[in-house]
Amino acid sequence: LRRNQGELEFHQAVYEVLESLSPVVQKRPEYVEASIIERICEPERQIIFRVPWVDDAGVVQINRGFRVEFNSALGPYKGGLRFHPSVYLGIVKFLGFEQVFKNALTAMPIGGGKGGSDFDPKGRSDAEIMRFCQSFMTELYRHLGEYTDVPAGDIGVGGREIGYLFGQYKRITNRYESGVLTGKGLSWGGSQARTEATGYGTVFFAREMLKAKGESFEGKKVLVSGSGNVAIYATEKVHQLGGTVIAMSDSSGYVVDEQGIDLDLMREVKEVERGRVSDYVAKRGSHVKFVEGGSIWDVPADVALPCATQNELDKDAAETLVGNGLRLVAEGANMPCTPAAVQVFQTAGVLFAPGKAANAGGVATSALEMQQNASRDRWSFEHTEERLDHIMTGIHELVLTTADEYGIPGDYVAGANIAGFTQVADAMLAMGVI
Ligand code: NDP
Repeated sequence: LRRNQGELEFHQAVYEVLESLSPVVQKRPEYVEASIIERICEPERQIIFRVPWVDDAGVVQINRGFRVEFNSALGPYKGGLRFHPSVYLGIVKFLGFEQVFKNALTAMPIGGGKGGSDFDPKGRSDAEIMRFCQSFMTELYRHLGEYTDVPAGDIGVGGREIGYLFGQYKRITNRYESGVLTGKGLSWGGSQARTEATGYGTVFFAREMLKAKGESFEGKKVLVSGSGNVAIYATEKVHQLGGTVIAMSDSSGYVVDEQGIDLDLMREVKEVERGRVSDYVAKRGSHVKFVEGGSIWDVPADVALPCATQNELDKDAAETLVGNGLRLVAEGANMPCTPAAVQVFQTAGVLFAPGKAANAGGVATSALEMQQNASRDRWSFEHTEERLDHIMTGIHELVLTTADEYGIPGDYVAGANIAGFTQVADAMLAMGVI
């Protein structure tokens, strides 16, 4: 705590993992002897840097950039960049820590890291976004490489930003090193299905949870919070599997559309016009309701997929959802449910999957992008989606088997933490004290 003062989200993420590990340290005392837990909580490297850039009015702006290279026992550091005004070291470290275990669960050769900036892209012109990305990469490039550290997108960083970042990396290094960033455009080294992967993967995972109980998405009412990358493609896959997403949100409020969200319209509003969810209402018709500043979790549904941001679903919201007959929660975002909310779900017997398992499809498909870059190959959408589905089904199986093995059947939280931890810990043990 002394070493990580004020980093509240990081403390929360560490507690959440360590709480699950007592049966592991009892079974494997060698982890304690080698101080694996202390070592795994300390990032291998933390980089903080100034990002100066000039806005459209000619004013010099200063932001702070971060890259936390958390753990490379299983492969090069891998994890997204977040551009949002709330970003500070505590958020980057929480995300990096989660990423280590998530990446281990995918069974792909990738370590964990995370980065970003307190830059707020909202209301900025395209030219401002480009100048910011170029300045950010002008410092970060020296820490990256396909065998070293491979960033991707996250909140506020999509295909446009990855393009500007990659362009600057290529210019500075004079290398067309495709494998240094993932989330690239399809014509310049990107992978089919990467844009869809986190949302689709979350729904594949939820489908497996339902299947294990003899159920399916058919006829289920679903809430999806957020309306960004993860939320949009989670919605698309729910609809393909026969469920109906009846509400989505952004930081201004939520919309309820009992006929089912019209995804083409939502994508036009969010992806093309870069508008607010409230703009959806005017275009869709009078049966749709917009609740400004309200909580989407007030809407009765069978399934909740929180796909916006950390700590967006608290104990009160969880109690409301349970009272309304909720059956399942799968986290598309990172740590969207507070620990008290998770406890409410688990106590009430609601099926609950943590983000490090349920949203691992994004990073897994990033690893598939790296594989295609390394072999100078391009796979079809169908093949890549099939691989993603297979990976998510495999993670579900691993998590449940691990929970069984440690005498806590059906506990997806402990199963994911233990399975992720042991893979990283075993690699660290094998490599000695480094
Ligand atoms: P985006 O920036 O594309 O979308 C984020 C969405 O969440 C926006 O609609 C945003 O609304 C909304 N949002 C943010 N804060 C709040 C809030 N307090 N209440 C309601 N809505 C809010 O990001 P992504 O979709 O990429 O990421 C979403 C989550 O998924 C994050 O936790 C991220 O770490 C996680 N994730 C993403 C992966 C990926 O591949 N992209 C991979 C794994 C996890 P507004 O526009 O108003 O801010």
